[in-house]
Amino acid sequence: MLSPALDTFLAEARPTPFLVLDPGVVAERYAELRVAFPQAELLYAVKACPEPEVLRRLVALGCGFDVAGAEEIALCLAAGADPGTLCHGNPIRGPGAAARAAERGVHRFVTDSAEDLALLPAGAQVLVRVVVVDEGSATPFLGKFGALPAEAVRLARGAAGVAFHAGSQQVRPEAFAAGARTALRVAGAAGIRRPVLDAGGGLPVRYRTDVPPPEAYAAALDEAVGAAVAAGDVDGARLVLEPGRALVAEAGVLRAGVLRVSRRPGIDHRRWVYLDVGRYQGLAETEGEAIDYPVRVPGRDGPPGPVVLAGPTCDGDDVLYRRRPYALPADLAAGDVVDLLAAGAYTSSYAAVGFNGLPPLTVHVL
Ligand SMILES: *Cc1c(COP(=O)(O)O)cnc(C)c1O
Repeated sequence: MLSPALDTFLAEARPTPFLVLDPGVVAERYAELRVAFPQAELLYAVKACPEPEVLRRLVALGCGFDVAGAEEIALCLAAGADPGTLCHGNPIRGPGAAARAAERGVHRFVTDSAEDLALLPAGAQVLVRVVVVDEGSATPFLGKFGALPAEAVRLARGAAGVAFHAGSQQVRPEAFAAGARTALRVAGAAGIRRPVLDAGGGLPVRYRTDVPPPEAYAAALDEAVGAAVAAGDVDGARLVLEPGRALVAEAGVLRAGVLRVSRRPGIDHRRWVYLDVGRYQGLAETEGEAIDYPVRVPGRDGPPGPVVLAGPTCDGDDVLYRRRPYALPADLAAGDVVDLLAAGAYTSSYAAVGFNGLPPLTVHVL
């Protein structure tokens, strides 16, 4: 099921740990989203995987970018992006940041507060982020972003449109529909007849369980826009999506080495498998066991038995999975390698610079 390029690369032994990325898979996912959302403007959320080769590939395909600050703007421009295709989506900016972005040609900003709105340059295209219910997301925002509708209406007077984000790895298309409906009501109340509707990121990826296809989210958004038009809130909407995870996750495989397999009498009936990569070398999304990467063990075919998967550092939080059931071959041993699949999103960009002396994750781009 991996791309031929990934298969070929992984057939050879190399020092672990590393992430290998196939930008060809990113291009395939982009093409799929183009088909599922033919009318939408697609902005890749750079933070999911800021590798220059991934950005260059997306520029070549005509994709725009959701950026969080000066560093991500610089990465996109270095990859050849037109600043007009960038949207400064992170409403946490600090004095001067929006003006500096505008100097570099970025004119689209998402805001969610009067304090931030006051800092946006004159002539900016403003989208107001509305807080929405993100139940169904593996990593909910818990209210960190967005304004409640009444406040959002005040902020949105004179704005170009509205934005929301239903939470990353959002497995409920209805969450997109409900978010869009709320956001379009805000747009209507602010007098924006044909708003930009930025539906954010959140399109899910298949890790160990099936997720609805992009078409289900497209249908949910269509229905919400139709309902908003029928209710007289707006005359239509110009859809923008900011996929991060959905474009890059399946392009990456994280190969880890097994440092130790331990029986721990009296502590746990399961084997503990300690890997050479953990929470601090790229597997940050195992916090709360939010994301459950599929795991395979090349070259071992013993009967699977339950394991706890742990990282290499001295930190007690550096345990990847102890609640979620994982089973690995009975003959697994120190020196083996373990592949974590669909690991292209939110891994390399999350690695610490040197916790416990361990380097950031090595990345190979095909
Ligand atoms: C992180 C982020 C995204 C991407 O989210 P995914 O769940 O990876 O698709 C999109 N928009 C904004 C504003 C974000 O912060």
